[in-house]
Amino acid sequence: MPSIFSRIAAGEIPCHRVYEDEHVIAFLDIAPVSRGHVLVVPKEERERLHELSPDSAAALGRALQRVAAAVVRATGAADYNVLQNNGAAAHQAVMHVHFHVIPKHADGTGLGVGWRAGTLDQAHAPALAASIRDAMH
Ligand code: AMP
Repeated sequence: MPSIFSRIAAGEIPCHRVYEDEHVIAFLDIAPVSRGHVLVVPKEERERLHELSPDSAAALGRALQRVAAAVVRATGAADYNVLQNNGAAAHQAVMHVHFHVIPKHADGTGLGVGWRAGTLDQAHAPALAASIRDAMH
């Protein structure tokens, strides 16, 4: 069963497209957090970011930068957030990778971020960084 975003990419479900290439499609979010809220979606259907192929991830990164620049130019909002959720517990509702580009407007509309910052445990940080370094392959 293709995801709703695969069906949009296939033209089966309408969208307000702002960009498309071989690997990526971008369109207006149907329930925008602010004016100009765009979704940037790889055509490769994967649930989570780390599951993408290198080619798809590279194309997504290139498109994301271009779409963000176009959103800034078109909306006049210099400030914006890029959000990418992985997994239901991390607020992912559509299980097909996507990046949100969400302008922050002068009227205050845009993404509200809850950010409970802790303090890096310096005693354990070297082992933690090493474990992530070792997992890079
Ligand atoms: P997430 O919580 O990161 O999975 O966000 C999914 C996003 O997809 C939400 O912001 C929805 O408003 C958006 N969305 C769902 N269906 C559509 C659709 N048919 N067209 C455009 N945006 C959609």
